[in-house]
Formats: sequence, C-alpha cells, structure tokens
Amino acid sequence: MTKEICISNKKDILYFLKTKSKKRIQNLFVEANTLSEKYRKNKVHFRGLIEFSNVCEKNCLYCGLRRDLEIDRYTMTKEEILNAAKFCLDNGYGSLVIQSGEINTQKNLYFLVDVISTIKKEYNLQMTLSLGEMSKTSLQKLFDAGGRRYLLRIETSNEKLYKKLHPNDDKHLFQNRLNTLKNLKSIGYQVGTGIMIGLPYQTYNDLANDLLFFKELNIDMLGMGPYVPHPKTPLYKIKPKLKDAFNLSLKMYALARLFLKDVNIAAPTALQVFDKKGREKALTSGANILMPIVTPTNLRKNYLIYPDKPCIEDTKEKCFNCLNARLRSINKEMGKNEFGDSIHYFKRQKK
Ligand code: SAH
Ligand code: SF4
Repeated sequence: MTKEICISNKKDILYFLKTKSKKRIQNLFVEANTLSEKYRKNKVHFRGLIEFSNVCEKNCLYCGLRRDLEIDRYTMTKEEILNAAKFCLDNGYGSLVIQSGEINTQKNLYFLVDVISTIKKEYNLQMTLSLGEMSKTSLQKLFDAGGRRYLLRIETSNEKLYKKLHPNDDKHLFQNRLNTLKNLKSIGYQVGTGIMIGLPYQTYNDLANDLLFFKELNIDMLGMGPYVPHPKTPLYKIKPKLKDAFNLSLKMYALARLFLKDVNIAAPTALQVFDKKGREKALTSGANILMPIVTPTNLRKNYLIYPDKPCIEDTKEKCFNCLNARLRSINKEMGKNEFGDSIHYFKRQKK
C-alpha cells in the first residue's frame, strides 16, 4: 500500500508538477482515478460537440479561427444542428455542447435561443454552451431557453500572461472574461473554465496558481488541454518554456481531481495530437468526460482551432464506435442516457 496523496496547497501542487519520479507520477494518476471512480464508478459521460460556427469577432493570438485568418467560414443551419442533436439522443449521449467563435449579434442570439429551446423541448438533452464572452442579458436569455452549463476557459489566470496571448484592445480584456464567469455563476449555470497547458511564457507557478484560481472561483467543470502551436498564428514564433505539454496535462487532470474533488473534468480531443491513447490516459488520470465531435464531416476541416486536429475525416458514427472501444480498453463505460451533471454544482446549490 502506498501512502495516500494529499493535494491541499500550492506547495503540494508544485511538487508534483515538477517531479520526474515515474513512481510518484504513477501513484498520483492511480489515486486520481480512484477518486473519480468513487464519484462516478467506471462511467464516463459523453457530450456531443457541435461546432456550430467558425465565425469569430476575436483575434486571440493562438487560435486557428482568429478573425484575421482567411478560412472558409460557416454557420450550421437549424436543421443541421437538430440532426446532430438527434444523433446524440439516439446514441445515449445525454448531453451536448454547442460551440462557436464569438459572435455577438442579436441575430445569432435569437437563432441560438430558438435552437436551444427546440432541442430542450424535442429531445430533452442537457446543453453546455461554449460561445465565448457575452453580456449578462444574452447569457440569461440562453439560460431561459434551456442552456444549463457554460464553458469559458480563462486560458490562464495570470493577467500579465493573458495580455501576452491577446491583442491589446478592449475586445480582449482579462477582466471581461472574469466578469463573464461571475455572471454565469450568478445566473445559475453550471460553470466550467480551464486553461491551455504549455503556453509560451507559462511557468509551473502559473499552472499551480490556475488550480488555486479554480478552487477560489468554486467552479463545477474543468476543460483544460495542451496548447498546440498553430503555424498561421502570431504566437507560433514564441516557443513555450515548459516542455512536454502532454504529460503536464495528465498531471494537471490528476492534481485537479485530487484538489477540486467532485468537479467534472474533460479529456479533450487535443490530447490525441500528442499521443494516440491521449484521451484514455486522461480518463485514467482523473478526467471523466469525453466530448466526441458530432459536427458534420464536411465542415470539420474548417474548425481547426489547432493544427493536426484528430477525427476531422471521421463521421459521428465512427467517433461513437471508436470512443466506446477506447473506453472498453480501460475498463470504463459510457454513462448512457445520463446527463452526468457536475456533482459539485448540486453540492454548492445546497449550501
Ligand atoms: N470561442 C469560444 C469557444 C471556442 S474556442 C472561446 O474562445 O471561448 C475553445 C478553446 O479552444 C479556447 O478556449 C482555447 O482554450 C482553445 N484553443 C484555441 N487555440 C488553441 C490552440 N492553438 N491549442 C489548443 N487549444 C486552443
Ligand atoms: Fe475566437 Fe475562441 Fe478562437 Fe479566440 S479562442 S479566436 S474567441 S474561437
């Protein structure tokens, strides 16, 4: 029996972020997985990811959808979105994520209100929204339509670093991102945030502070993933300080599980850019959520937030079968037809 690992402060976090001891890292992963299974048994919940539009008003210096890039822009029709949602329903996904670039027009808002309320009424799926920053009024309208979870990565909790990753204008303010997270919470959403791991300039200290930030904000869901340098973006020329974004990401899932306990933690597709078994490794190191892409295959090549994105030639049926086989290989199974809402959210509502 190994001694139980306790992650209760920044010192503990930094120790594990820096350690190179294979045995200690392995113990960390095993304990994080044991805690995940205490909450969820061997179940992994699926959220079908509908990348409904790649139109974006922002110009984040790292992203393949940034405004200045000349890519074929698309927005899915209501029918295409409902079709993807129906696939989720028919295959027992329980939840879906509606994601896009940032589009702050009234037309887009009312389109989304219509789509979300239709999905809620017709299919009763739980919906996560990942649409970037919006006004509190708009967020309230989407909540009233039936959106219940919102994912908005803070990207880094270090404001100085955030400034280096974004253009210096009032469309890209750290404070606005933070306020949006606070607004989401006061409206009553299950709130998810997260960061990119292995960013230029980022240090171990930043990553440890990010975990403290999540705790302080009392978040319900976590979506963290490795930064994948995109050659067509301005940030590409700046090489990250921290090496091995993939293994650092695994450590971050495990540390987040042991530190934050009962939040939902996603194993992002970006892991597979680094390792074919990336997502399985995350799911045995503390993560408990998968987000299979259900965007129509012909559009996937235009939603390249980062290069070498996996699954872009695949159909939603193929992704479903592939992920189920991957789960079997690690003795886990899909939480079929269940919402798999954040346990943390309900606990915090009761307080
Ligand atoms: N527009 C919304 C949602 C889509 S972008 C938003 O920005 O919140 C979703 C996430 O993709 C971002 O939060 C960011 O963390 C991630 N991302 C962008 N560029 C990336 C890159 N080069 N490597 C890895 N992740 C990236
Ligand atoms: Fe737009 Fe989101 Fe990409 Fe920033 S990260 S450019 S907001 S899609």
